[in-house]
Amino acid sequence: MILCPECDTNLDVQEDEVDEGEVVSCPECGTDFEVITTSPLELKAVEAGYVEEDDEPEENEDGDYS
Ligand SMILES: [Zn+2]
Repeated sequence: MILCPECDTNLDVQEDEVDEGEVVSCPECGTDFEVITTSPLELKAVEAGYVEEDDEPEENEDGDYS
């Protein structure tokens, strides 16, 4: 059983059920945690709004019509 680092709520996942890079959410405080390592299990809070693999360059609004 894994406890939320923020509020000690049971995250309802087993250590051997998660993989590195997986994100688990706390049902109590709503914080998302990324699994950094599985042995020993280490969680890192994911910042709100942060999206991994966000590589969408959107800088073509206007201008540069060559
Ligand atoms: Zn929590």
